[in-house]
Amino acid sequence: MQKRFCACGVAVWVSYLSKANWKALFFVKVQQKIKTVHKCPHCNQYMNIDSLR
Ligand SMILES: [Zn+2]
Repeated sequence: MQKRFCACGVAVWVSYLSKANWKALFFVKVQQKIKTVHKCPHCNQYMNIDSLR
């Protein structure tokens, strides 16, 4: 897993399912729990590997 940051600064962990088709899962820590997300819980942006830093 790689640690990245959303544009708003929230830490996001990325896990690649397959490097062949660039599918990735995004995880964020919410209230001490790690959960899978499609959107940032803070700024509500859809997670996109290209927009993370
Ligand atoms: Zn965000």
